[in-house]
Amino acid sequence: MFSSVNSVALFGMDACMVCAEADLSEGGLPVFEMVGFLGSEVKESRERIRTAMKNSGYLIPPKRITVNLSPADLRKSGSSFDLAVALSLLMSMGIFPPERLEGTVVAGELSLSGEVKQVTGILPMVLEAKKRGYKKFILPEVNALEGGAVSDMEVIGVSSLKQVVSYLQEGEDIAPTTVSLEDKLMERREAGADFADVSGQALVKRGMEIAAAGMHNILMIGPPGSGKSMMAKCIPSILPPLSVSECLEISKVYSVAGLLGEDGLVMQRPFVAPHHTISPQALAGGGVVPRPGAVSLAHRGVLFLDEFPEFHTQTLEILRQPIEDKVVHIQRAQGACTFPTDFLLCAAMNPCKCGYFPDRNRCNCTQVQVKKYLSKISGPLLDRIDICVEASEIGFNELIRENAKEEPSENIRQRVVDAVEIQKKRFEGTKLRFNSDIGVKEMRKYCSIGQEEEKLLEKVFSKMGFSARGYHRVLKTARTIADLDHSDEINTTHISEALGYRGIDRRYWSA
Ligand SMILES: [Zn+2]
Repeated sequence: MFSSVNSVALFGMDACMVCAEADLSEGGLPVFEMVGFLGSEVKESRERIRTAMKNSGYLIPPKRITVNLSPADLRKSGSSFDLAVALSLLMSMGIFPPERLEGTVVAGELSLSGEVKQVTGILPMVLEAKKRGYKKFILPEVNALEGGAVSDMEVIGVSSLKQVVSYLQEGEDIAPTTVSLEDKLMERREAGADFADVSGQALVKRGMEIAAAGMHNILMIGPPGSGKSMMAKCIPSILPPLSVSECLEISKVYSVAGLLGEDGLVMQRPFVAPHHTISPQALAGGGVVPRPGAVSLAHRGVLFLDEFPEFHTQTLEILRQPIEDKVVHIQRAQGACTFPTDFLLCAAMNPCKCGYFPDRNRCNCTQVQVKKYLSKISGPLLDRIDICVEASEIGFNELIRENAKEEPSENIRQRVVDAVEIQKKRFEGTKLRFNSDIGVKEMRKYCSIGQEEEKLLEKVFSKMGFSARGYHRVLKTARTIADLDHSDEINTTHISEALGYRGIDRRYWSA
């Protein structure tokens, strides 16, 4: 007898419907074969499935058994097909009626004892099933909160093969898991770092506010102990609250990476801070079964690179493409897969090896050494950072101001949210989301300036020798500053401030 059960295969973040077909026929020697372009883990699942079925009380009859995972041109990897294959066999054996699995998709790994175990990538699988018009998804109980976040899908979490069979025989009733993402996002309160706890550093804070408002990449330069990491950790607290669609986008990446916590989903903007010894692959993503790297785990959040020049040159150069394209492509024999990488880059560095340049009383580095240190950040990479700020050493003045009340992140966030709203209206119907996304062609449309402003820019540019790219960056930053100011027009004040964030890196790198 022939039967089939729907399941989903994953390649990177892309899900694809798969059919687990089973056929039991009389005659010939009893064999159990599995075919359909299977990776080694899937081939190995045969014994696991047989044992899990036996330990759940179902002996596979001594017949000629063929299991096929179709379509045949798609390579299947991972252990998420176990449950679908087992159910397909049980259906062939007449254990439960086929109608019970109509319009239903199944995914889950089986243990030898017949338990249904967690699998990675449930969220993209359920989303794909929904897209294809399926109404019900049977999955591991541990993954239920994750799958349950998908609306209009009946998600049934199961813990053992026995339990699923009982459910399909209409014995045990299992209530569907539903999660209201709106409610969950409303109730979660971030307990992260807050700008209220950082004394002084008004310039850096201002730079970060602008960076957050327009999703501009930002670089902090300053001596050790100026609180650079502390301030970077505060950035998520001033970014707009997560929307439902962003929450799903981020959770999809973490689902594929197998990094979703007990909550079932990522409920906060990611803050990813890899150490400078990170390998290019761990940063960009990769592996035989492609997994997202740090740039994708930071999607819709912050990627913080401390000790920026200490990263391998090769690692740093890899960053350019995801910053530019907001996605990474990973090439594999079976095709390319894509992971999203739309993050806010926050980099921090000492100005030289010892950390005290340009304070010549304390810095013992030679001019050549300073130059060599700074040159590890290449021009093209620097060109992708719109805002450069100097963190000053916490001086006496700031220490005595310690009791002064610092503005809490929530207030700053409100201004950021307002500026983001303005951008939302501005870019309605386009692919752009933030001012930092404005391309050269759209410059005239979104960043037009008056004669006086034009003159100011011309004057400064000829004096400082900025590139065309630099010109656009100043305008984009000025656009965000004007938005924070609730001003439709970009005026000279906005431009002057934006120029200030470019002047700093000029001072170090062209010294
Ligand atoms: Zn030095």
